Amino acid sequence: MNMEFVRKLTIPAEVKEMYPLTGEMARCFEQRDIQLKKILSGRDNRLLLIIGPCSADNPDSVMDYMERLRKVQEEVEEKIFIVPRCYTNKPRTTGKGYKGMLHQPDPGHKPDMFKGLIAIREMHMRVVRETGFTCADEMLYTENYKYLDDILGYVAVGARSVENQQHRLTSSGIEVPVGMKNPTSGDLSVMMNAITAAQDKHTFIYRGWEVHSQGNPYAHAILRGYVNKQGHSHPNYHYEDILLVSQLYGENPGLSNPAVIIDCNHSNSGKQPLEQVRIAKEIVVNRQLNARVGKLVKGLMIESYIEDGAQSVGGGCYGKSITDACLGWDKSSRLIYELAEML
Ligand code: PEP
Ligand code: MN
Repeated sequence: MNMEFVRKLTIPAEVKEMYPLTGEMARCFEQRDIQLKKILSGRDNRLLLIIGPCSADNPDSVMDYMERLRKVQEEVEEKIFIVPRCYTNKPRTTGKGYKGMLHQPDPGHKPDMFKGLIAIREMHMRVVRETGFTCADEMLYTENYKYLDDILGYVAVGARSVENQQHRLTSSGIEVPVGMKNPTSGDLSVMMNAITAAQDKHTFIYRGWEVHSQGNPYAHAILRGYVNKQGHSHPNYHYEDILLVSQLYGENPGLSNPAVIIDCNHSNSGKQPLEQVRIAKEIVVNRQLNARVGKLVKGLMIESYIEDGAQSVGGGCYGKSITDACLGWDKSSRLIYELAEML
């Protein structure tokens, strides 16, 4: 093979022994899992809000963001259940650029995968310990999920991975809710097939083991917009798009817990992060205008950080995204309060 095997990495069980959860952290994980599943199964009507930076690039600004979010969560907890985005590994369209904390714990330094594995576990543990939030992250590399499976509250399978069999089968063995994004092409059948596969039981190979998965009844849909063959972004958060997903769920009566999350950024905003404010409000209005939409759309995903926009790696602006452009904190907190008012 044309690759150098640099070193054998410490296995997840050993990393968990080195960085164990406290009893309090484990209880926090369990309690939040119960609440999240109540929302996704329609037994709790609160809006799920998955919000935070496109990438968790810097522990200090991420924790600053999380602490601000904690205060807002306390004020809106009757209406909104917040799951912060703490995304530690990033898929890159051409493979170039910052691939997240997993690859580069310091975005200005060379990749170091062992340091990265420790850094992402410490990052997630720090959020739970200091704020009581369990977070969402993308499962970009299925085999790495075991390093975080006791602490991640929500897993997303990204638009570039959702057609991949190993992602689908691994999702079927995950206990927490998994959101399946529509693929970048926008073909909704790919997303629905991913949900079907993840809700089923399977036998497959995972981390060198033959495994049996139990099926994940909380696998559900995330609409993130799509790009056409000219590479132009098109939204799929509109009323008609949601009714179409409702119809697709109707054609698959075997699926449990039908649910849609609207990702307000990516191709839905056409990478205009400030548009997320309007999109989020539109969704909440549409939920109120149509009972089917209201029942199916359980939540929103928003890319938000301390500053509006994005910068290059090394740009030097504190709390500004180095991957997708985000909505800044002032606008984000105002939006959360406004959404709570509308609900
Ligand atoms: C993301 O959520 O930052 C992301 C990469 O999403 P998608 O897979 O929809 O592009
Ligand atoms: Mn993003």
